[in-house]
Amino acid sequence: MNIVDEIKKIKEKKNAIILAHNYQLPEIQDIADFVGDSLELAKKATEIKQASLIVFCGVRFMAETAKILNPEKKVLLPAFDAGCLLADMAKVEDVMKLKEKNPGVPVVSYVNTSAEVKAISDVCCTSANAPKVVKNIPSDRVIFLPDKNLGYFVQKHVPEKQLILWDGYCFVHRQFTIQDLKSAREKHPDAEIIVHPECDPEIQDGADYVLSTSGMLKRAAQSQAKKFIIGTEEGLIHRLKTENPDKEFFSLGAARICFNMKKTTLEKLKECLEKETNEIVLSNEIIRKARSALEEMIKYA
Ligand code: SF4
Repeated sequence: MNIVDEIKKIKEKKNAIILAHNYQLPEIQDIADFVGDSLELAKKATEIKQASLIVFCGVRFMAETAKILNPEKKVLLPAFDAGCLLADMAKVEDVMKLKEKNPGVPVVSYVNTSAEVKAISDVCCTSANAPKVVKNIPSDRVIFLPDKNLGYFVQKHVPEKQLILWDGYCFVHRQFTIQDLKSAREKHPDAEIIVHPECDPEIQDGADYVLSTSGMLKRAAQSQAKKFIIGTEEGLIHRLKTENPDKEFFSLGAARICFNMKKTTLEKLKECLEKETNEIVLSNEIIRKARSALEEMIKYA
């Protein structure tokens, strides 16, 4: 029996579900029950009532979000050391200091934050709903963290609000350059260029569309275009190609890779599922407070 069949067999026996983020390795996406962005996956886990074991193939903050929304379920993270450098840029003590400096100003946190930071935030947001959340929150000033480029995107769409931005960034999305845009336009003049709002402002301004990963998937499916240049972590290209076999997808410049996202291997997944190791454990208080910020997001989005 090969490793894929072995994983499927153990999964069935344990009545588990495997969730994989859009940036995971192709073989991990292919074996997963569901592939999506972090919030889509966490919500998906709440819908599957019969499964009590969730194996989350992604990075830590994503598995934590799944745990926050599914506290009664056991959530495992196969690559236990897979963190997110962006999420790590917002530490609880620093966020508390900024809150103290700006009393009464609500904190809107991107889902790419630790459970502890979510717990001291007023509202969470995703890259898909961030402008809507900020627009609808009843305050003229908003502390927005941790991604400065996503903050730029939000500020552009919600100019009437004053955003206090955190100085964080995703090292993967910051690698795209103006030269990448120029070369892509020259090489594929008939292609749509779609980039993620974690890219630098000049890349956002030079692209045809600035969309979240779920937005990119929708755009690729609905557009009349046959060619697309994608400015996000290259793992998404596997899903775009699988779902749109009649269209062509290219990375903007060289393929940009998040090494933490590639730490999940079939071997680690099998071991974690088999032995039920690498469980995500959060205190009830953190779960309750972080969940409230996620629920507020649904209210404002
Ligand atoms: S791609 Fe960027 S935001 Fe996503 S997990 Fe990697 S470092 Fe974090």
